Amino acid sequence: MAQLRFEALKKLSERPRVHVEVPNPVVSKFFGEYVYGIEQMRATLAPGLFKKVSQAIKNHEKIDDATADAVASAAKSWAMAKGATHFTHWFQPLTGGTAEKHDSFFDALAGIEKFKGSELVQQEPDASSFPSGGIRSTFEARGYTAWDPTSPMFLYGKTLCIPTIFVSYTGETLDQKAPLLKALKAVDLAATKVCQLFDKDIQRVVASLGPEQEYFVVDKDLFLARPDLVMAGKTVFGHSPARGQQLEDHYFGSIPSRIYDFMKEFEIECWKLGIPVRTRHNEVAPSQFEVAPLFEEVNVANDHNQLMMDVMGRVADKHNLKVLFHEKPFAGLNGTGKHNNWSLITDTGVNLYAPTSSARDNLLFLTFFVTTIKAVHEHADLLRASIATAANDFRLGANEAPPAIMSVFIGSQMTAVLDELEKKGNVKIEKGDNMYMKLGIDQIPEIILDATDRNRTSPFAFTGNKFEFRAVGGSDNCATAMTALNTIVADQLLHFYDAVNAQIEKGEEKRLAVVNVLRQYIKESKNIRFEGDGYSEDWVQEAAKRGLSNVKNTPRALDAYITKKSLDLFVKHEVMSHKETEARTEIRLESYIKRVQIEARVLGDLAMNHIVPTAIAYQNKLITNANGLAGLGIDNKAVVQTIREISGFIETIKNGVREMIEERKRANKITDTHKRAIAYCDDIKEKYFDVIREAVDKLELLVDDEDWPLVKYRELLFIR
Ligand code: ADP
Ligand code: MG
Repeated sequence: MAQLRFEALKKLSERPRVHVEVPNPVVSKFFGEYVYGIEQMRATLAPGLFKKVSQAIKNHEKIDDATADAVASAAKSWAMAKGATHFTHWFQPLTGGTAEKHDSFFDALAGIEKFKGSELVQQEPDASSFPSGGIRSTFEARGYTAWDPTSPMFLYGKTLCIPTIFVSYTGETLDQKAPLLKALKAVDLAATKVCQLFDKDIQRVVASLGPEQEYFVVDKDLFLARPDLVMAGKTVFGHSPARGQQLEDHYFGSIPSRIYDFMKEFEIECWKLGIPVRTRHNEVAPSQFEVAPLFEEVNVANDHNQLMMDVMGRVADKHNLKVLFHEKPFAGLNGTGKHNNWSLITDTGVNLYAPTSSARDNLLFLTFFVTTIKAVHEHADLLRASIATAANDFRLGANEAPPAIMSVFIGSQMTAVLDELEKKGNVKIEKGDNMYMKLGIDQIPEIILDATDRNRTSPFAFTGNKFEFRAVGGSDNCATAMTALNTIVADQLLHFYDAVNAQIEKGEEKRLAVVNVLRQYIKESKNIRFEGDGYSEDWVQEAAKRGLSNVKNTPRALDAYITKKSLDLFVKHEVMSHKETEARTEIRLESYIKRVQIEARVLGDLAMNHIVPTAIAYQNKLITNANGLAGLGIDNKAVVQTIREISGFIETIKNGVREMIEERKRANKITDTHKRAIAYCDDIKEKYFDVIREAVDKLELLVDDEDWPLVKYRELLFIR
């Protein structure tokens, strides 16, 4: 095994550089080359047909059969002209990742290439192997995928991919996209309603998302020589290297050339696919990087994020690299997140989270700003649950990670504005008064965008013209978080609307009614606002005093989905039925169990088959040495001491692994999924992972480097 490590290290030093050239420095020349979206439809469809499709897409209406046939035929011609042979419905099952099943255009029976409208609109993949949380039993395997025309088709390799939702035969959604689309519709309806209190011209509000994606990159052969990375996506052992991230020299540093080549190439591929990647830089930890796209409508942005992760994986392979999206691949180093920058933008072009120099518009801004904070306050537990996964537990709430407390950071300027508004609660506004001036909201300076202080420790931060949900995990699909966020904001906006109208009906002036409700919200949601260091122990104490929850692990966090409050919330906004929410929660619990189970197995196997034998072999060498020394009459105490230490660690590992296996057997017998997940969390992960790891990591320091079987952190992270 140590041989594998050294072979991998040798290969690494002999790697040729993969040179990458941008096809054209003018990116607009090839941006979206592989996209069949609205513009391509316009170019390839008869004007009458195009009008029909674009209207239907815009108004979320059904596309009739003849039109679907025309679109399918045009898309096929477009794709075949670019070399496509197959098409697939591309969807996002609840397993994570994306799924596809390719069919050829070529129909051997007819002897021609075909692609019918009905095939574009709906397909019936064998759904039996996707998780359904008990909604669909395996014998009733039928589920179907249905075209989402709001996200453009794209050519990936030789396959035309059609973004779709995935639904069981009985109509329950079984994927990430379907509830997201419904939540986006809910927030559109609610936000438009509220906007119309201010401006009747606003007919539609679109939620936008710019997901900043963090990731680690390691050499492919080093990766392959680490079975834990291969099986669990993370290292379960590894002593921290002498140099970690303490020098803070990686962040924004110059990008290593091998990584730079890889970045260039995946960016080019993304651009061709219409993914607007824009920013690249080194992250805080060694070998950690970030890519950020320009924001887009949430659904498209999320499809693009999912596709981008896939592109990155494929391109990395060509460069003999491996991308890690796991939330905590290396102990002792920063974890990996996917910061969800989010805002709401009207069809009149107004970003509702951007303060302006116009006092009147600022009331609209404050409405959305305060209502969002209130929504987070009301549903903090649901937001926490929306980002809960086995992997994200290592990034939030674990020993070296920030706590899993939800709070909102707004910066000192906005704090001052809200304080002022709250304080001026009893200011009497007379006819003819400048209300905005009297309330101190006449000038929220525009410069706030640049002047907003940043807080990297806040899970949910206002960054001048958008909120950034930073707690989302690096490997996660943004849809879960975005579905929750958009639904809770939709709900709070409707409450706001009702409250304002109730006051208007009692004779209050509209603007004052708005201010009154905002003031009330500011007071009620104060507890969720926190401007300090979210990673500090003080905050944990302070949050507890404030009564904020700090749910450390997924099985307990997920309870927030199945409270009556949350179940009803999703029903009210037609996002998910009770059954759907319950099924999803069940699936996520099962997924949690499986992840912990895999990690426990990998950890046990590696410890027993790689580490213990290595430690014993080395110990034997020491024993020979100790005997030799004794024979020569030389003091061998130091060697004997080491032998004893090694024995101690071996014993800890063996006992730990044995007991952990017993606990697993016990846990596997628990039929209730929730209880089984808790057992996996408390009795397996919490009890054994760190104990075993500590002993292994200690051995790593004792055993001869020549013999150590696992690629070390310093090799994984610093050799490129
Ligand atoms: P910051 O410096 O605050 O991180 P950036 O301008 O670098 O801001 O943007 C980070 C991400 O936020 C990018 O993906 C960007 O496109 C996205 N973003 C910017 N404005 C918005 C917005 N109004 N809504 C959603 N995402 C946005
Ligand atoms: Mg970042």
